[in-house]
Amino acid sequence: MKHLSEDQLYTAAFDSTDADAEFIDHLTQCTDCHRQFTSLQRLAQALSVAHRSQPSNAQIERYQQMSSLLPRKSSALPEWVAQIRATLLQDSRQRLALQGMRSGGQQAYRLLYTADHVDIELLVDALGSSRHIEGEVLSADEQKMQSPLLVELYATHPDQSEQVWTTESNPQGRFRLDGVALGAYDVIITPTVGPALRIEGIQIT
Ligand SMILES: [Zn+2]
Repeated sequence: MKHLSEDQLYTAAFDSTDADAEFIDHLTQCTDCHRQFTSLQRLAQALSVAHRSQPSNAQIERYQQMSSLLPRKSSALPEWVAQIRATLLQDSRQRLALQGMRSGGQQAYRLLYTADHVDIELLVDALGSSRHIEGEVLSADEQKMQSPLLVELYATHPDQSEQVWTTESNPQGRFRLDGVALGAYDVIITPTVGPALRIEGIQIT
């Protein structure tokens, strides 16, 4: 069975034209393509929400206050903690730029990272001058990636102060980070059992 192309998936998710029967047929049979499609639909939705909702000054202020209250740490995880490195599989910013899509500075985008037994998906959406990140860790082997997961975002650019955003995932491996400043980050995801995952050099724009 031939999978749906990235073009087909993007077109169906972003243009609300009717998908043909063959497309729908494949989606109902293929969990891989179905998952990709659902995630692209979420991105399309996030983009249209970003279009519609300009946050109020009060909202922005509240988020800034929240981020200033978040705990800061001066050092990353101890050296002895085993880590698996995840690599970038997809960055929808490249794709959207190719298609000439812009959303007036309010850009939502999707990053997909992969490691041997997990995929990590990040949906980044704008809220005023900061960003919020909705993430999901999808594991083929739940024994290796037991939720709740501890998720830490470390600012890595020398100009940024040493900021850390921390949150915990729900039992399904979903998490959310609010009030994230623009910049470069490393993300460390630590499961209840097993080695931590490390994603390096994420550019939040
Ligand atoms: Zn498929």
